[in-house]
Amino acid sequence: MAGQDFRQKSYWLTTREYEPGDRLNETVKVDIAVIGGGFTGLSSAYHIKKQEPSLDVALLESEVIGFGASGRNGGFSMTKIGLMLGLTALRFGKEKSKQAHGYAEKAVDYTKELIESLNIDCDYEHSGFLWVATSEKFKKRLHKEYEFISNLGIEGIELIDESNLRNRVNSPLYVGGAWWEPRSGILNPAKLAWGWKDVIVGQGVQVYENSPVIEIKKEKGRFRLLTENGEVMADKVILAANAWSHFFGKVKFKQTPVWSYIVMTEPLSEKHFAEIGWKGRESIEDFRDLVHYYRLTNDNRLVFGGRDVSLSWGKNMDKDLDENIFQKLKDDVQKTFPPLKGINFTHQWGGPVSATLDLFPAMGYAGDKNFIYSLGCVGHGVSLTQLNGRLLADLALEQKSELTGMFFVNRKTVPMPPEPFKRMALQGIVSFMRWEDRTYDVLK
Ligand SMILES: Cc1cc2nc3c(=O)[nH]c(=O)nc-3n(C[C@H](O)[C@H](O)[C@H](O)COP(=O)(O)OP(=O)(O)OC[C@H]3O[C@@H](n4cnc5c(N)ncnc54)[C@H](O)[C@@H]3O)c2cc1C
Repeated sequence: MAGQDFRQKSYWLTTREYEPGDRLNETVKVDIAVIGGGFTGLSSAYHIKKQEPSLDVALLESEVIGFGASGRNGGFSMTKIGLMLGLTALRFGKEKSKQAHGYAEKAVDYTKELIESLNIDCDYEHSGFLWVATSEKFKKRLHKEYEFISNLGIEGIELIDESNLRNRVNSPLYVGGAWWEPRSGILNPAKLAWGWKDVIVGQGVQVYENSPVIEIKKEKGRFRLLTENGEVMADKVILAANAWSHFFGKVKFKQTPVWSYIVMTEPLSEKHFAEIGWKGRESIEDFRDLVHYYRLTNDNRLVFGGRDVSLSWGKNMDKDLDENIFQKLKDDVQKTFPPLKGINFTHQWGGPVSATLDLFPAMGYAGDKNFIYSLGCVGHGVSLTQLNGRLLADLALEQKSELTGMFFVNRKTVPMPPEPFKRMALQGIVSFMRWEDRTYDVLK
């Protein structure tokens, strides 16, 4: 339903003035219509116009640009794609696992390049990534996975020892050293989404907000996208609705929404930093199945997310708040950084990511070459979606490229089973992850 108060949806969505654009109140004819105003839709529209400026492109967003995961995430531009590469190799083989990592590295570099070349003010910091272990069992996992990626010939990640880690960031929970990946960065995602909007409007893309697509019809070879007060006629459609994709028949069984949650503190003081360190302002993630992820904002607030997820069934998308998970995250903050005992938490929020059954992204043509979709980046889409947009533009323009040749383009996804089997399968997967984390971790 359009008209929700977007400022309530995350801290990031309060950090800049933003005036939503017009609703769609008429019939518009374009060459390509994009559904969804997150990073995927924005980047797709940009790359189409960049390659073919003469094409008419319209982008329709249910609420406001950045309303979905793109305006609510942790803001980590990171190389993770799917789950751990060892698991990706079990699913797709070693060579494809390496290709996937290469794609994710390219996405991270490309995100920085886009932000710089388009001059998007989104507080980007090139501060690198630390992957830490919080128990002996996770330390073993970290080393095993490191050996695996080294054997694959992946070079951008190095193993640092415990004293190096503690010189950077000090937590009593850390066991052993860490992975260090200098390539990654952090950013303010809402500012990036809104900056993107300025760029594509400047290119001539017609952007309509508070204009949910409620039905797609096909008439005489063209698509009719109906909104409450208007319609868009288009030759081609790019569906970039991410966690809402199951509302669209063509890709209904390809993904399901999964919610991730974040809590945020007031700015840390000099005294806090004196005890914790963290002068390098690195992104940090642990080695759990349901990871914790944390970072600092540009005014030194701690953004701390993950730990658990929630699921929904049918058409229910009302899962943005979960007091139980918020409380556990707050407890975990104190355990991770005891000097923060008593600190105030100023914000908490959640948002839906899109998950396929094998937790790996999927994109390609649905039905024919005129309907293109992208989904399934789970909690790792900040940079992937920027490059995916270029890939989707290639698909829309029917241009073969290095990107469209990636093995996950037009891949066969494992369909979500019908209810009640879907519920049983998803609850089974999440319960297993929770059980493994409880068994492995000191954070129960
Ligand atoms: C709490 C949280 C933390 C995360 N942290 C990270 C992180 O640190 N790093 C990382 O890499 N990834 C992270 N992610 C994942 C990342 O945010 C997503 O992968 C990425 O933003 C997906 O972008 P998108 O454009 O595909 O989808 P979205 O940003 O979700 O955009 C989809 C848009 O489609 C719109 N829409 C839906 N239905 C319709 C309709 N019928 N008509 C018109 N519009 C419609 C929605 O309103 C929405 O704005 C996180 C996600 C969450 C929720």
